[in-house]
Amino acid sequence: MKVFKFGGASVKDAKAVKNVATILKQYPNENIIVVISAMGKVTNALERLTDAYFYSSESKTENQEDAVDVLNEIKKYHFDIIEQLFPDKNHPIYNEINNSFVELDWAIEDKPTHSYDHEYDQIVSIGEIVSTKIVSAYLNETGIKSKWLDVRDFIQTDNTFREAEVDWDLTQKLVDKHLSSLSNWRGAGGEVLITQGFIGGTSENFTTTLGREGSDYTAAIIAYTGNAESVTIWKDVAGVLNADPKWFDETIKIDQLSYQDAIELAYYGATVIHPKTIKPLQNKKIPLHVRSFLNPEEKGTVINETQSALPVPCFIFKIDQVLISISAKDFSFIVEENLSSIFKLFSEKQIKINTMQNSAISFSVCIDNDPRKITDLINALQKEYRVLYNEHLELITIRYYNQPTIDRVTLKKKILLEVKSRYTVQLVVKP
Ligand code: ASP
Ligand code: MG
Repeated sequence: MKVFKFGGASVKDAKAVKNVATILKQYPNENIIVVISAMGKVTNALERLTDAYFYSSESKTENQEDAVDVLNEIKKYHFDIIEQLFPDKNHPIYNEINNSFVELDWAIEDKPTHSYDHEYDQIVSIGEIVSTKIVSAYLNETGIKSKWLDVRDFIQTDNTFREAEVDWDLTQKLVDKHLSSLSNWRGAGGEVLITQGFIGGTSENFTTTLGREGSDYTAAIIAYTGNAESVTIWKDVAGVLNADPKWFDETIKIDQLSYQDAIELAYYGATVIHPKTIKPLQNKKIPLHVRSFLNPEEKGTVINETQSALPVPCFIFKIDQVLISISAKDFSFIVEENLSSIFKLFSEKQIKINTMQNSAISFSVCIDNDPRKITDLINALQKEYRVLYNEHLELITIRYYNQPTIDRVTLKKKILLEVKSRYTVQLVVKP
């Protein structure tokens, strides 16, 4: 079995959906389970819908959108695509998608009864439900037999809404139950399986989500539990590049990459693969291919057991960083006890530390600039410490660095912090 994952960009309009069918036509006899995200930027729109719904019941602020307007916009986007894919207005897909949206109509009519995160997951997950229904129906139209599976029937999670943890044992049992009867299914004239990324189900039958951009992780969960031979993530880039073309004019495609390097790059913020994706695949030595859905004949990148280091330095760039330096009010040393209370604060406030450094009298951390969280954090820290901070910084991470590359990327920039390990350097700079 192979697992394919198609993200939002690969199903963002009718043409893109047709392209998915073209790619799948190249694999007529393979057992393939296809994991699909919400179309285009629909998840962002559904987030706006959730905000409009949830906060309108509290106090309505001036620029608060109206939930019904946002929902209408989402419906229109999908029906525009459906009309192009299914010229026959009597096709059952029209009804099916209408029914999915009716659930949202109902949901936003009543006042929220659960927490924000809980309501969020019930609403936002509809993006994946409708995208997979549309793609599955379209494949059947074009002669690729497909079967729609509800991923919530087999990916089971706890109820940490918006960041759900997978219950691996239960998921394994359910995958065995659902997929084993299907082994060698296409050889026997069976269908391509189509299912949703990003979402899961709880024992109480609520929907959860695995964190933004979580569809890659879904593909890995299915591959791991289903013992897939490989996973392919189809993207709008040629593969894994050594830098984000958004920031660098010249990028190089990497042909092969170790699991370890992929984990490191994702951890430091390379957006090409969701950070949780690699570990399950590494544990079962399942190769992960990253390929272009625009040029499907090209090989892309493979992430596998190779031990070789990358031939080029890799860059990860984060903007809008804040460097906070924390010292004792009486200038005494920062010792273990202080560190422990400082870390506890970061964890309570769910603030991710991008890099850090400790010296005798001060402890420095670099974090994303999230104004709401930061004011709160600084207020809390100031109760016990002297706190200085510096905004509008950049964090540059280079894996497989050397001095000339450091010099090149920091040219005309002031280095405020430098953290080096054997293969990786992190630089906090002021542009
Ligand atoms: N649709 C979800 C998101 O945009 C999941 C994904 O695309 O991986 O975050
Ligand atoms: Mg996406």
